[in-house]
Amino acid sequence: MIPLVRRILDTMLPPNCLACDTPVEDDGLFCLPCFRAANFVSAPHCVQCGVPLPHGGAAGAGGQCAHCEALTPCFTQARAALRYDEVAQRVILPFKYADRPEAVRGIARMMLRPGAQMLARADVLVPVPLHPSRLRARRYNQAALLARELARLVRVPCLADALVRARPTAPLARMGLAARQAELADAILLRRGATVAEMRVLLIDDVMTSGTTANACARALLEAGAASVDVLTAARVADPRFE
Ligand SMILES: [Zn+2]
Ligand SMILES: [Zn+2]
Repeated sequence: MIPLVRRILDTMLPPNCLACDTPVEDDGLFCLPCFRAANFVSAPHCVQCGVPLPHGGAAGAGGQCAHCEALTPCFTQARAALRYDEVAQRVILPFKYADRPEAVRGIARMMLRPGAQMLARADVLVPVPLHPSRLRARRYNQAALLARELARLVRVPCLADALVRARPTAPLARMGLAARQAELADAILLRRGATVAEMRVLLIDDVMTSGTTANACARALLEAGAASVDVLTAARVADPRFE
């Protein structure tokens, strides 16, 4: 359906569940079956990167996962609302690729609870940037929509264009760690004229996978003088070793 027609219909019909076509009372809610099927990230998880951990171990003495122990990320903490499973994909993929920006309200509200501490200490929210070529193809940066909506909800400023992609990067999903790091080296920079000096920055994205992108953004922000960087995402890909 063409977007305008759909949008007109959307204003006339009751809102749908975030993850399916079931009508719900208010925008941004799950229907009961989807709510029951959704996997919200809960303890135990790595104290630093937030990756869900199996019960009864896998964290080191400091509560970190093996990745963070081996190669400490630049960011202080990362947290997410949902495990990135089938239900989360039904929430995130239309928002990211299928021109459904209105899902931002429900997704941002889901991020309030896991992000409560980080939102409380943030001076500014900054989204993970998209390269302009991808921005043109998708029409909007889903991370920037989330950052703006969260900023509105908690009344913290948002610097939506503080970070830029200096060049397009290939999808990281199938790359190993070294290849991901090489792909992102110097790809994410602070925009000229933007300032984050002395600020506690909360970086916002839709999905955190390996954390390489978040780490590259955190490095750019810290090199620009940010006091600290936390990361809040809608969903988190679980470490396959722990599944
Ligand atoms: Zn549903
Ligand atoms: Zn970790």
